Amino acid sequence: MNSSIELLPDTCDILVIGAGPAGSAAAIFLAKAGLDVVMIDQHVFPRDKICGDGLIPDAHRALARLGVLDEVMRQAHPSGFVSCISPRGGRVDVPGTVAVLPRKQLDDILCKAAVAAGARMFAPVRFNASIEEGGKVVGARLGHQDEVREVRARWVILATGAVPQALMATGMARRQTPTAIAMRCYIKNDAMAGKIDKLEIIWHRKLAPGYGWIFPCGDGVFNVGVGVGLSGVPDAQASKPGASKGRVSTANLHQMFDTLGTLTESARELMAGGTRLTPLKGAPLRCTLHGATLSRPGLIVTGEAAGSTYAFTGEGIGKALETGILAAEAILQGKAQDEAGVRAMYESHIDALRPRFALYERANLVNRYPWFADLLIWRARKSPRLQRRLSGVLEETSNPGSLFTVKGFVRLFTE
Ligand SMILES: Cc1cc2nc3c(=O)[nH]c(=O)nc-3n(C[C@H](O)[C@H](O)[C@H](O)COP(=O)(O)OP(=O)(O)OC[C@H]3O[C@@H](n4cnc5c(N)ncnc54)[C@H](O)[C@@H]3O)c2cc1C
Repeated sequence: MNSSIELLPDTCDILVIGAGPAGSAAAIFLAKAGLDVVMIDQHVFPRDKICGDGLIPDAHRALARLGVLDEVMRQAHPSGFVSCISPRGGRVDVPGTVAVLPRKQLDDILCKAAVAAGARMFAPVRFNASIEEGGKVVGARLGHQDEVREVRARWVILATGAVPQALMATGMARRQTPTAIAMRCYIKNDAMAGKIDKLEIIWHRKLAPGYGWIFPCGDGVFNVGVGVGLSGVPDAQASKPGASKGRVSTANLHQMFDTLGTLTESARELMAGGTRLTPLKGAPLRCTLHGATLSRPGLIVTGEAAGSTYAFTGEGIGKALETGILAAEAILQGKAQDEAGVRAMYESHIDALRPRFALYERANLVNRYPWFADLLIWRARKSPRLQRRLSGVLEETSNPGSLFTVKGFVRLFTE
């Protein structure tokens, strides 16, 4: 990693802004294909990222495509199940390819893989503005402290996550406010190491319209958090000044977190006897592929900047990786085509993901009406077939939304 902004080149093929999962995934694919890739981030890596650190099956698949899954799994805490816990204390363990790895480690592995593939990484360097000529983005104005540099590129990939500033600076923000917010901290409690070995998701009316989680990171450390959504608010409405001062900012996440520690026996034991390793910190989420224009001449928006996080679960690492790969593939496959062809290909691949995101938005119903979790988990405990369906949702081999149609509701009582 280069720490000096002075070393930035004047030109490159691709300039990637943001070295999270989306940016690094795009950089790995493009650099492997022989393109001259420069990646920048405002933070020096390894850096922390507020997250639940859960790696669900889509992330495992994308990490395998990027060639880093083995390295990730050497450091991660593997778990074969997600435990869904309902308001009345019902519990069903849904089998799935899941693991937990703190983002400090995961994102460092990805960033290093991009550098190993040939990308040049510069940090701390901040994206300030795009350089435009005739309506086309031809590069970016970058800065660190008082120093400012201009880098020109054939394509700029914006992978800046859920914070809207870069989207706003490039005219790509359709929505400035987040669609959800979540908070987490790390708690150490060696006595709980063997007792919580699955990823636990907890629904309760006291957490509605959100949920809580306890994810084991290994060595008696747990990522514990709560999240709450503001889904259903259309982009235009949410962009109005002050619009977010509704449900999201009034939701008292600190209080929700304390409540989480009273809801199950294991949560009580973990929190009462544990030591907080980090403060409780929050971060925004951008979900359901809403909130941003996906591309304009010379610029592609990818990852959570493009809203690539699932509404129901707040999981977004896998889809950030996937959309980063899609951006790279569109640029590579569209090499011989005109620029409009690259953009059309990228946007059509993103559009193909929309039905799944829409179904996760519908599944968000469980967060709003947690009694639904009671019903679902009560039925799942009695029905191996329903457990297989839930596992299919997690593995992305079946639709989550099928559970939330009238037909799906009837099937709950018949299978
Ligand atoms: C509390 C919480 C819990 C979550 N839990 C999970 C979970 O368990 N599993 C899961 O899959 N997902 C989870 N998510 C969602 C997940 O964190 C995101 O979906 C994922 O990080 C998106 O990746 P990304 O690469 O698009 O963006 P990011 O990971 O946010 O990376 C963006 C990068 O861009 C850089 N950047 C931003 N602006 C600039 C700028 N102007 N100049 C230079 N650099 C810039 C940032 O420093 C950052 O490194 C959670 C989110 C939150 C908030």
